[in-house]
Amino acid sequence: MVSNLTDRKFLILGAGVTGMSVARSLTSRGSSVTIADDFSSDGIKTDAINLQNYDAVVVSPGWKLDHPLLAKVLSSDLEVLNEVDLAWQLKLEVAPHQKWLAVTGTNGKTTTVEMLAKILQTAGIKAKACGNLGETVINATDQADPYDYLVLELSSFQLHWVKKARFQSSAILNIAHDHIDWHSSFDLYALAKLSLLEKSEIAVLNADDGEVVSRSASWRGHKVFFSLNTPGPGEIGVVEELIVDRCFVEDPMQAEMICEISDVKPTIPHNISNAMAAAALARSIDVPHAIIQKALQGFTPGRHRIELVLEKDSITWVDDSKATNPHSAIASINSHLSVVWIAGGLAKGADMEAIVQRCKGRMKAAILIGEDSDLIEKALQKFAPQVPRVKINTPSGYAKGQIDNSLMEQVVTQGLAFATSGDTVLLAPACASMDQFVSYADRGDRFAAAVKKLVSHAN
Ligand code: ADP
Repeated sequence: MVSNLTDRKFLILGAGVTGMSVARSLTSRGSSVTIADDFSSDGIKTDAINLQNYDAVVVSPGWKLDHPLLAKVLSSDLEVLNEVDLAWQLKLEVAPHQKWLAVTGTNGKTTTVEMLAKILQTAGIKAKACGNLGETVINATDQADPYDYLVLELSSFQLHWVKKARFQSSAILNIAHDHIDWHSSFDLYALAKLSLLEKSEIAVLNADDGEVVSRSASWRGHKVFFSLNTPGPGEIGVVEELIVDRCFVEDPMQAEMICEISDVKPTIPHNISNAMAAAALARSIDVPHAIIQKALQGFTPGRHRIELVLEKDSITWVDDSKATNPHSAIASINSHLSVVWIAGGLAKGADMEAIVQRCKGRMKAAILIGEDSDLIEKALQKFAPQVPRVKINTPSGYAKGQIDNSLMEQVVTQGLAFATSGDTVLLAPACASMDQFVSYADRGDRFAAAVKKLVSHAN
């Protein structure tokens, strides 16, 4: 038994997936738990909590630092824990030989983690993807028959809290504006991502990302770079049609093929970067090149990530609802030649000017929705006044989560009006969805439903 997870009185902040999973693990070890949550029937109201009744507090990652109860906890003497560190403590006890690999970054985490898990599984390694993508770390750790490797997707919120966990190797894919409202500044957001370095034996870093390169420069640990350019010795990169390894090879003066770039689907630059990060992590634990190639050939990213909805009359309809920040939307728009861009929602403090400046050449028109649509409208006015645009107001009677799909139907009708042969109508909103939709998945599903209803059968 892990001594300090047993027979203690824990207060858990948050009754979401993480909090409930932590609660199960701690109660099964004989500790008592109280869950605080103002919005869930699984928790008690935060203003009813007396901190004197507890030995330690476990914070769920999404909780804002200025939440009154969390602020009180932080100014008290109570030990403040988090799910990932608790899982680490548990791992040391129940799965001492298990190794952890980690992936963070503003975009591409889930795709890279899933690629890596698939590579490890193809190699016959008992591995599990967990963390920010669904399965909790503590649940993946707390197994009677432990995994050999866990592949953790770590968000900036999780990394803000993690202190104890250690990683065999980890990757930082990119760092760009997102979640500035939570972290209060871009520097603090970047700092949370960078905190992964000191916890890792090997760091796999994106040489094409200026923020990653400059902010990791002073770290003296073992760095491995990947790049869409020709790799130098000690790097993984692209030579013509091939992804090649000049790092984990006998002679770094020679490049060895990992796979063809066409093995990576969709074959677009940012996804090739993700594949190189996954390949580098796999190579760091000696998975052979041929296994990596075989796994990548059989992999496609999850739903709502540059997902083809329909191709009709040479117009392509694409659901990239998971593009919830400008960085991912830029990658998405730049993967298509002529784009009718559907954008807007909650900007989370991110700047919307760079996306217009960098992508205006590919923007045929813009359809704007949601709470922060004015931010995008202003950026378009300033940097691309020639791009036609329309703002779709929330239809009267529309409420999120209801059957009524009139909002997306208006968006798609407008898309039909703007698009001509050769265009892509692209849902890559650069914003979070929760102002008008239940989730990014709901936003994407509603877009696809409207396309199927209004475009599939239209003549
Ligand atoms: P995350 O887990 O970091 O949110 P996902 O793999 O779910 O990452 O992808 C999120 C969004 O970012 C999608 O719109 C996807 O197309 C885009 N994306 C994926 N990889 C990258 C990358 N390396 N750079 C920029 N955008 C990316």
